[in-house]
Amino acid sequence: MAKEVLYSSTRGALGSIHASEAILKGLAGDGGLYVPDHIPHLEKSLKEIASLSYQETAYEVMKLFLTDYTEEELKYCITHAYDSKFDTQEIAPLTEADGAFYLELYHGSTIAFKDMALSILPYLMVTAAKKNNVKNEIVILTATSGDTGKAALAGFADVPGTKIIVFYPKHGVSPIQEKQMVTQKGANTCVIGIEGNFDDAQTGVKKIFTDPELAKEMDGKGFQFSSANSINIGRLVPQIVYYVYSYAKLLKEGRIADGDCINVVVPTGNFGNILAAYYAKNMGVPISKLICASNSNKVLFDFFKTGEYDRNRDFVLTASPSMDILISSNLERLIYHISGDNSAKDAEFMEKLSKDGKYEITDEMRGKLTDFFGGYASEEETFETIKNLFDKTGYLIDTYTAVASCVYNKYVKETGDKTVSVIASTASPYKFTRSVINALQIAEEGKDDFELADKLSEVSKVEIPEAVTSIRTADVLHKTVVNKTEMEKAVRKFLGL
Ligand SMILES: *Cc1c(COP(=O)(O)O)cnc(C)c1O
Repeated sequence: MAKEVLYSSTRGALGSIHASEAILKGLAGDGGLYVPDHIPHLEKSLKEIASLSYQETAYEVMKLFLTDYTEEELKYCITHAYDSKFDTQEIAPLTEADGAFYLELYHGSTIAFKDMALSILPYLMVTAAKKNNVKNEIVILTATSGDTGKAALAGFADVPGTKIIVFYPKHGVSPIQEKQMVTQKGANTCVIGIEGNFDDAQTGVKKIFTDPELAKEMDGKGFQFSSANSINIGRLVPQIVYYVYSYAKLLKEGRIADGDCINVVVPTGNFGNILAAYYAKNMGVPISKLICASNSNKVLFDFFKTGEYDRNRDFVLTASPSMDILISSNLERLIYHISGDNSAKDAEFMEKLSKDGKYEITDEMRGKLTDFFGGYASEEETFETIKNLFDKTGYLIDTYTAVASCVYNKYVKETGDKTVSVIASTASPYKFTRSVINALQIAEEGKDDFELADKLSEVSKVEIPEAVTSIRTADVLHKTVVNKTEMEKAVRKFLGL
């Protein structure tokens, strides 16, 4: 039996809790993030793991972090999450193009990488509730600027013991994003447009979430809120799996020899995906460099270069909007680890970040970041990368993956390092069809996003994913639009309070 992993806050000494409790709570009471007290080492060799399926690999990895889940519980969560929702049995296939391996994390319900974690989180949560004698139904409340809302809806739809309510800015999401959400099936789902922007939605949700009166009333009716946001440890752990899986796959296919190092390249926003790669490395996967790719919002590039994290700068809107982030929340976990798991120090940095918008780490801490390489791609470079790769190889990538691909090319040029590299491919080219069409310089005026998808398919010979074709003709099931001041009323109505 492996040693139990306990979780505590990055910011304080509030004691340790079990994995299932950390998943239920999401964020620690002091505003910190839950971190494991040690990173467990893989029990099976990578050679043994090479003969396992994705689901079996998931079990090998997750059992080491979620030590208070039984084998039966964990396997139940895994088999319900990674099933025919994915359009390939491999779940996360690797495709070689132009000398690099693209780890395609976009074969789930919403054709982007957040599905990898959001398809299992609901099951981990419901199981956690049972284990901790929570009798209430879990109500997920989310504000979305487009993508995360749909991924959460798809994950929680029809999961017994849960309900999910998503608020989105009625005039602030793309037509496809809106269509994806308002056609969501599942009696436990509720999608509401608000007259206001994303910040209004977010502020409203926070207010409802922290209202003690409402919480009491809900408890009386058998409900309690929980959060599915990206800092939940239940989203981080499932992301470690595909880094272990991709190494094992390269081994199985004879692309590398046992023990060889690989590099990993990750298009980064909130720092969750690349942190998962860092955990995989610390579990014993031979990863040499962790290459962190940013778009024009290059706070992380500057951080790795100078040791100073500084959010005081203009916010740039790019063609990879989920990476338009000036505060990468999950970076706090890395800061905690490189300070020697020192919560007092971490709290100090986060205090500075909130007060001055910046902090500078010590030289000793910087010394622990030598495995990281930061790079960034401008908008122009991103578009060029899509076109060049497609013209050269016929392989089509989206704007997010292109940021990573571009940074990888820059890295190789700068260092001459030819280590076998895995590039995390985080979205299908059909998720951001218009940008990809623009990158390929196929002039198409006046066409809607579905027509553009047809065009892209014609040019690229890449089939349009079911996730896109199915919403084309789907019925609109959610029609409610409310004023931003009436969000709580809408929640009450849905819950019958
Ligand atoms: C969220 C997202 C990212 C960024 O991942 P982080 O874990 O936030 O760093 C990259 N690509 C896509 C498509 C995303 O949706």
